[in-house]
Amino acid sequence: MTRTTVLVDIDGVVNARALTHWPEETWRSRTIYPTSLNDVWRVTWSAAAVNGLREIADMPDVDIGWLSTWTRRARADFAPAIGLGGDWPTSHREDAEAVAVEPDLDWWKADIARDALTSADRVVWIDDHISLWMDMLRDTGPHDRLDWMDPARLLAVRPDARRGMDRRHLIDIRRFILTGERPTA
Ligand SMILES: [Mg+2]
Repeated sequence: MTRTTVLVDIDGVVNARALTHWPEETWRSRTIYPTSLNDVWRVTWSAAAVNGLREIADMPDVDIGWLSTWTRRARADFAPAIGLGGDWPTSHREDAEAVAVEPDLDWWKADIARDALTSADRVVWIDDHISLWMDMLRDTGPHDRLDWMDPARLLAVRPDARRGMDRRHLIDIRRFILTGERPTA
């Protein structure tokens, strides 16, 4: 049995702008009044993308959860809006809301993804900032700082922040979970 942990970011992954990569009629939008925040957030998502995530969550031997600066609000506020993830665990650092949304070299999300590899056979990490963060490390850091990202066990899914996840991402994730095969392109 191969257990896979799937870590899902929200902004730029599920909450994304309506573009043509999902059918127009699948796009939804809602205003959220976050708990304990004097603020209003507008979120937009495709029900098709959410359904794809739901299918992944329902796969055998998959443990799926949120990894987002929404922290507890992922479950409390975002999940009820999209109708998915209200019972998913939420990984976050206690001060995650205080840290920048953009990654820095010691990115707390990367620490959590790395930790997940110690308990799961495979990890799928979906975040629109992974490419930016990897570029930062390649430009500035010691070259071994990305060595933990074992391509045999970790699939880093890096959607364009404006589009969020598309059908190709969902296909790649399902294949990696089922067979360990990685996308070829
Ligand atoms: Mg994001």
